[in-house]
Amino acid sequence: MQLSHRITHLLGDGDDGWGVFYRARAMKAAGRDVVELTIGEHDIRTDPVILEAMHAAARAGHTGYASIPGIPALRDAVAARVQAQSGVPTTRANVQIMPGGQAALFAAHHATGDPGDSALYVEPAYVTYPGVLRALGLVPCPVAADPEDGFQPRAADLAAAVRAAHRPRSLLINSPNNPTGGVYDAATLDGIARVVRDHDLWLISDEVYDTQVWEGAHLSPRALPGMAERTLVIGSMSKSHAMTGSRVGWVVGPEAAVARLADLATHTTYGVPGFVQEAALFALAQGDALEVQVAAPFLRRRALALDLLARQNIVRVQPPQGAMYLMLDIRATGMTGEDFALALLETHGIAVMPGESFGAAAAGHLRVAMTVADEVFVGALARLLEFAAEQAARAA
Ligand code: PLP
Repeated sequence: MQLSHRITHLLGDGDDGWGVFYRARAMKAAGRDVVELTIGEHDIRTDPVILEAMHAAARAGHTGYASIPGIPALRDAVAARVQAQSGVPTTRANVQIMPGGQAALFAAHHATGDPGDSALYVEPAYVTYPGVLRALGLVPCPVAADPEDGFQPRAADLAAAVRAAHRPRSLLINSPNNPTGGVYDAATLDGIARVVRDHDLWLISDEVYDTQVWEGAHLSPRALPGMAERTLVIGSMSKSHAMTGSRVGWVVGPEAAVARLADLATHTTYGVPGFVQEAALFALAQGDALEVQVAAPFLRRRALALDLLARQNIVRVQPPQGAMYLMLDIRATGMTGEDFALALLETHGIAVMPGESFGAAAAGHLRVAMTVADEVFVGALARLLEFAAEQAARAA
């Protein structure tokens, strides 16, 4: 039987960008020692106090169908958090609880574009973005941000891409950024907001790394003039509270849009388990301390990495301003990110993501997730740098 074009072409014509990751997993399954610096998941697990709260909630009976927009107390807590961060008045009517940021991205694009419409996003981009758009029949329109600009998109490039697109409806941005570690500054966000307003687009602002900012400050574009009515913010407990497996996140946006998202949830996910929502509520009530604790290993490893990188001059790095990744520029080796990553995996058993997995804008780069114990991380990075020096010497 024939399947739909939307599902069979979800990955586009290429692969899904996870080739090195799958190869690393296959090598591990075959018994080889592999250091995985690939996926964006903490090496710690969800804090036991959150698990206790989840267990207690389940025992207390929160195991039936839960309120589909989200339990009121959690929507209130998310609204209060978003209002405190951004200064934008926010109530529970602006919040739809979702089973994770990924589902929130899907729902936000479902709500803002029809099949055949164009959806813009900034590259390098989180690997699932184009697939989300294709799954909805939207036309993915990447806009490259240059390494030389610290991977911050230029307003002029965005405006040109909007003008070139067929029925453009939305622009998706992500700050703090996966994979680049960039945090958009006020000038970049002003430029983005101007383009979005001038062209009457929705802005979908993926802010799932908002608690991992190492330099500068996290600014939400929803707070800019005229933006609250056209911005959908994607949030998640995954990165902030090491709750990746709990699948709980949200969309924050205008009331009318959020009401439609509840309709969509009624016909797709049917909500998020009540005991998971209660655990998220408990976790948010712990305040900043827990978030700082969850983020601390990445800040520590960032310092260790920058120290190692400063001792050589082959591999270049823009110090990540946020998130849990290093974006390394390996163009001095003369290799593509893909060839380098595959060779590093085969020869040293170290798995990193080729920049190309995140779009052409990151060609000649590697994304290194800082998600293993400090000593393992430092050892692997040191070997990566030695390998890069060997390749560069060979190329010279
Ligand atoms: N957005 C970005 C930029 C991400 O890196 C991820 C996960 O890695 C997600 C969204 C989805 O996160 P989740 O569905 O776990 O909330």
